[in-house]
Amino acid sequence: MTAPEKLYMVIPCYNEEAVLHETAKRLREKYDSMIAAGMISAESRIVFVNDGSKDKTWEIISALHSEAPDYFSGVNLAHNAGHQNAVLAGLMTVKDICDMAISMDADLQDDINAIDEMVAKYYEGNQVVYGVRSARDTDTFFKKFTAEGFYKFMSVMGADVVYNHADFRLMSRRVLQELANFREVNLFLRGMVPLIGFKSCNVYYKRAERFAGESKYPLKKMMAFAINGITSFSTKPLKMITWIGFFMSCISVLAFIWAFIVKVTGHSELGWSSTMCSIWLIGGLQLLALGIIGEYVGKIYAEVKQRPRYIIADFINQPEASDSTEET
Ligand code: UDP
Ligand code: MG
Repeated sequence: MTAPEKLYMVIPCYNEEAVLHETAKRLREKYDSMIAAGMISAESRIVFVNDGSKDKTWEIISALHSEAPDYFSGVNLAHNAGHQNAVLAGLMTVKDICDMAISMDADLQDDINAIDEMVAKYYEGNQVVYGVRSARDTDTFFKKFTAEGFYKFMSVMGADVVYNHADFRLMSRRVLQELANFREVNLFLRGMVPLIGFKSCNVYYKRAERFAGESKYPLKKMMAFAINGITSFSTKPLKMITWIGFFMSCISVLAFIWAFIVKVTGHSELGWSSTMCSIWLIGGLQLLALGIIGEYVGKIYAEVKQRPRYIIADFINQPEASDSTEET
């Protein structure tokens, strides 16, 4: 193996005073063992991102840093920006100083021991390593049901996510720099990272129970997160309206024939046929029209995001001179 590379951990923290000391302690032990084994450089750091906590989280992070500046750093956000934004803030802060970064929750639900394997996969040439939960034994039935339903629903709705992968993942510096080009405001990192591409793989781990404190993701937040994920990643709901409209319009033809037969056989009340026909036809046409508008809204929406249209993985045969011009 060549010289060990710099690993930065990014840990979003929102009101995590109850777990921070334990998380810091365990991560520090992990770092010690990995540095000793020559897996990561001694310049690797653990970065806690304080997401506008109302408790002592930031005080604890500052104290950790003064006790052991060689291990811990901190980023303090101005207000509670939400989990996804906090993770991104951390990743963007370290993107130019690390070789690889791992994002992980503060509550020790993600298995710290999976970090070795993630780093090993990185050295094998993977630019992204997804931490995937192999079991949810410790989750309540309700959490398990809603969370697994979430991944299935997302994929039915056309948002491509790695099943049972949350935000425990390793990304190389290269991938972080590409991530910086995604300018969207509605963040859904688990959908964005697969879009970047590059060689990736999964590492499986057992998800533990929250070490202490309470979940900051109640059902309401999870629903909002799912809706954000779908509407940020898929125009399938808009297309569905078009199809329903088309289907209704077809049915209206059948309704016409039916109403006509009832009319000529003399079984209808006055005005019934025309009412029946217009309900189906107008309903169908309205939905179809909405769907068509939706198609255009979908296009505008994709444009407004200004996502990079392609990502260059490497340059072959790049003239040497271009490097030196860049440096001057
Ligand atoms: N978190 C955050 N900002 C928020 C909510 C949560 O930074 O507004 C952090 C939280 O501190 C934790 C991670 O995001 O490190 C995941 O949250 P949590 O464990 O509460 O979610 P769950 O595991 O229950 O889905
Ligand atoms: Mg958690």
